[in-house]
Amino acid sequence: MDLGIKGKRALVTAASKGLGRGCAEALAAAGVDLVINARGVEALEATAADLRKQGVSVTTVAGDVTSEAGLQAVLAAAGAVDILVTNAGGPPPGSWETWTRTDYIKAIEANMLTPIALMTALMPGMMERGWGRVVNITSQSVKAPIAALGLSNAARAGLTGFVAGTARQVAPKGVTINNLLPGIHDTDRATALDGGVAKARGITTDQARTERLATIPARRYGTAAEFGAACAFLCSQHAGFIVGQNILLDGGAMNSTL
Ligand code: NAP
Repeated sequence: MDLGIKGKRALVTAASKGLGRGCAEALAAAGVDLVINARGVEALEATAADLRKQGVSVTTVAGDVTSEAGLQAVLAAAGAVDILVTNAGGPPPGSWETWTRTDYIKAIEANMLTPIALMTALMPGMMERGWGRVVNITSQSVKAPIAALGLSNAARAGLTGFVAGTARQVAPKGVTINNLLPGIHDTDRATALDGGVAKARGITTDQARTERLATIPARRYGTAAEFGAACAFLCSQHAGFIVGQNILLDGGAMNSTL
């Protein structure tokens, strides 16, 4: 399918690996020029080199997008983008009994205030130009809380509320905002979480993974490529009537009728 976005310009944050990279790859395959960001320079440049093989232009911005300096550097490089995909690392697992105010502030800055700042800065230009697409990478934890990821449950719920109200305000100007909610995907983060469970329970990482696989009707972890394809569709010309939605990609893991 021709996504109809060849020649558009996109910013994808936290995009050197995993789901962010999957989104950047799918947008590059659709002919979208990219600005991508991550903290580690080496992986970022390697990803950019791979993306350029699709014939698109790729600008890199190394830095922590959740810091003020990192955010400003990303925005300066982004300029007038048509497409924004927000992403950042997820908070660490733990327990509500030990999290402090500092832990909550950090999670809220990374997974709520940073995407809101990116949208606030970039959507006015999209509205002026009459076209824009925003996809926020959130989590299945928005719909079905994950006990050990309470910091994620809390911060992403705030972002979801912001999007619900704001999506309806920018839609009249041709700008759509939607959230993609990953269930378990085969990325470094999933492996790290499996490792954490294995350590806490005294089992192997393979055993932890096998147990998690059993909770997914599709009986596998999702891939960054299929996540990216869903993201690129939401950024396409065909998705202009999809507004303010929270779309779960979880292999059927959340058991619900609606
Ligand atoms: P990942 O494989 O660990 O990749 C994270 C990417 O983000 C890397 O490129 C990393 O590069 C970059 N990054 C992390 N923190 C950053 C920051 N502060 N500033 C700029 N770049 C940053 O993670 P993932 O699995 O793709 O997860 C992406 C998001 O989806 C996370 O928020 C995660 O919590 C959420 N999620 C993932 C899953 C899953 O199963 N994978 C499920 C639910 C939700 P650097 O480290 O070099 O910065």
